[in-house]
Amino acid sequence: IPLGPLHNPANLMGIRACQAVMPKTPQVAVFDTAFHMTMPPKAYRYAIPTEYFENDDIRRYGFHGTSHKYIARRAAELYGSKEFKLVNCHLGNGSSLSAVKDGKCQDTSMGLSPLAGVPMGTRSGDIDACVVQFICNKYGMSVDDCLNMLNKKSGVLALSGVSSDFRDLEEGKAKGDENCILALQKFFYEVAKYVGSYAAALNGIDMLTFTAGVGENGPDARAAICEYLGFMGVKIDPEKNNVRGKETLISTPDSKVQVWVIPTNEELMIAQDTAELVKAAQ
Ligand code: AMP
Repeated sequence: IPLGPLHNPANLMGIRACQAVMPKTPQVAVFDTAFHMTMPPKAYRYAIPTEYFENDDIRRYGFHGTSHKYIARRAAELYGSKEFKLVNCHLGNGSSLSAVKDGKCQDTSMGLSPLAGVPMGTRSGDIDACVVQFICNKYGMSVDDCLNMLNKKSGVLALSGVSSDFRDLEEGKAKGDENCILALQKFFYEVAKYVGSYAAALNGIDMLTFTAGVGENGPDARAAICEYLGFMGVKIDPEKNNVRGKETLISTPDSKVQVWVIPTNEELMIAQDTAELVKAAQ
């Protein structure tokens, strides 16, 4: 509860209510952080005094784990081997990336909270903590209010001044709206930088996958991100990339990295995890 004060009490209430009416029915809680628990300390530790880790569990947890896990499993089937290196881009209203080696998460862009990583619909993504100090001091804002602004009033919504919805941004871009263009450019740039840094972390990658609302339905977003990645041999086929919501290999045969669109399926992953855990407990 100290780490998830908004969500965990409500989740516990649901669990306890179910226990009261179905005392013999096993219950499974599937955590969005679970897939990221294989990260090594160099990825999950923050470079701050150890006491905050030891006493308070302050570390990178990562989110969207259910989606990243589904994609990692499906990607292994498509790749034809469990031994391969993958960067998955879950790009939606909330966005996160993960670096996965042989099916195990090595790093992910969200942190203690889902605020970290790339800019999102309404979240700022990574930001220098001194920005918070400056704004709080100058405007007499509380830290909570400042964090609310970073979570709900920032991201591409703030940069565009128009919308957090990528369809509206594309529409604005088509009309020549410079703020929409900047918001999209910033998003693509930061996503591409994360892919590049994870490719370095994994010493090269075999596959790059796109999923979630924008990842599955945004050919322009995928093309703009992949353009940055030409240096590492990523090459996509514009015709194959012109796809929405359908599992598709969009890279060219001579691309050094396979690039796939894979629709995520968190519901299936939750059902499979639940079945596995219930069976194991019997
Ligand atoms: P999600 O959080 O995964 O549901 O993704 C929501 C985001 O996906 C919103 O910003 C939508 O604008 C975006 N999205 C959904 N459909 C499309 C589409 N056809 N083209 C571009 N973006 C889309």
